[in-house]
Amino acid sequence: MSRVLIIGCGGVASVAIHKCCQVSEVFSEICIASRTKEKCDKLAAELAPKTKTVITTAQVDADKTEEVIALIKEYQPDLVMNIALPYQDLTIMDACLACRVNYMDTANYEPENTDDPEWRKIYEERCEREGFSAYFDYSWQWAYKEKFEKAGLTALLGCGFDPGVTQAYCAYALKHEFDEIETIDILDCNGGDHGYPFATNFNPEINLREVSAPGSYIENGKWVEIPAMSIKREYDFDMVGEKDMYLLHHEELESLAKNIPGVKRIRFFMTLGQSYLTHMKCLENVGMLSTTPVMHEGVEIVPIQFLKTLLPDPASLGARTVGKTNIGCIFTGKKEGKDKTFYIYNVCDHQECYKEVGSQAISYTTGVPAMCGALMLLTGKWNKAGVYTVEEFDPDPFLDALDKYGLPRSICENPVLVE
Ligand code: NDP
Repeated sequence: MSRVLIIGCGGVASVAIHKCCQVSEVFSEICIASRTKEKCDKLAAELAPKTKTVITTAQVDADKTEEVIALIKEYQPDLVMNIALPYQDLTIMDACLACRVNYMDTANYEPENTDDPEWRKIYEERCEREGFSAYFDYSWQWAYKEKFEKAGLTALLGCGFDPGVTQAYCAYALKHEFDEIETIDILDCNGGDHGYPFATNFNPEINLREVSAPGSYIENGKWVEIPAMSIKREYDFDMVGEKDMYLLHHEELESLAKNIPGVKRIRFFMTLGQSYLTHMKCLENVGMLSTTPVMHEGVEIVPIQFLKTLLPDPASLGARTVGKTNIGCIFTGKKEGKDKTFYIYNVCDHQECYKEVGSQAISYTTGVPAMCGALMLLTGKWNKAGVYTVEEFDPDPFLDALDKYGLPRSICENPVLVE
């Protein structure tokens, strides 16, 4: 029996909320709080007749720590699930510390305004020191480690699919399959088709920032940075077929390099269609991906936010998306002195997700792990004070929960390796 405050009511949060309501014996009470309360009320009204979970709703601007504190004080949750945007990670963590409540999210911190001079200075120092230039990184949230330890609280970072399940796959490989992992390739394939020439499957601003950034990977403990989309491979994915995929920077590379001892190389690949890439390049060239405000006929607008208004809402893609996703990790390494390869992945069908929770598979593959991560914290299966990423916990109960609640694992002992 527990009380959970869920902040955000977009595509991913809506799936997580559906799934929490399927596990009422643990999620006995939830409060859905977001900037636009009407969305929370609509979802609560839809779910209330179908669940034993008691649902309440609230309005909150999570950019304002004091508003989150007031809400936590009023609702008294056992856990705060941040499924809003990465911009709110730090304000919500501050509120959790102030109110002594556990925290989790699905994506690591990045600032909304990348022109802020104070942030920019720290960012440029980090680029110089670490050697990668993505706007997001773990340093901001890892800086809270001591504070969470001292308060006896847990902060679970990045508990979606990637980051999230991919790191649990790494912990599983280390625990059960290898004595030593040498290389990890994370492969994120979306074989779905929504029929639009251009749309993003999750928040457009976060998605386009991620994909248009320079790529990078870890080789022998160091970052190697490459121009965006400059490493392309083809891979034949189980249940999906052949797809082009591109090497991207991704947040879990940073934590895996720290937590998987001896790993020599870690790469992340995502499949992207030609139509998506052509549209993205064009939008970038005309300045539509910029986060810097501009004046338009006397009104200040942020180009990428205006673009978000024009694009289809990712939460609305469910009905029209067909096909499957296939996301997982390929490992090479040693077991009992012998070379070994191992591939663990999940295949998820867009239309099956839509039938179950009314959304496409990208939101589903993120929202289900968020619920399962919360389940681990609330049932005490993951229980240590501090700030942690998923691979730092026992993967077994988490992967068992994913098998049970909609994202079962598949395993291949001799996969085709990525060149
Ligand atoms: P959406 O844009 O669909 O939803 C975001 C939600 O957050 C909306 O309900 C929005 O409210 C709310 N919100 C935004 N700002 C605030 C604020 N200041 N205060 C309160 N609520 C706010 O995003 P998604 O559901 O697609 O993504 C959610 C998160 O999941 C993101 O952090 C994303 O990066 C992450 N993600 C992680 C993945 C993984 O595998 N780990 C994969 C995909 C996404 P409003 O309706 O008013 O705008």
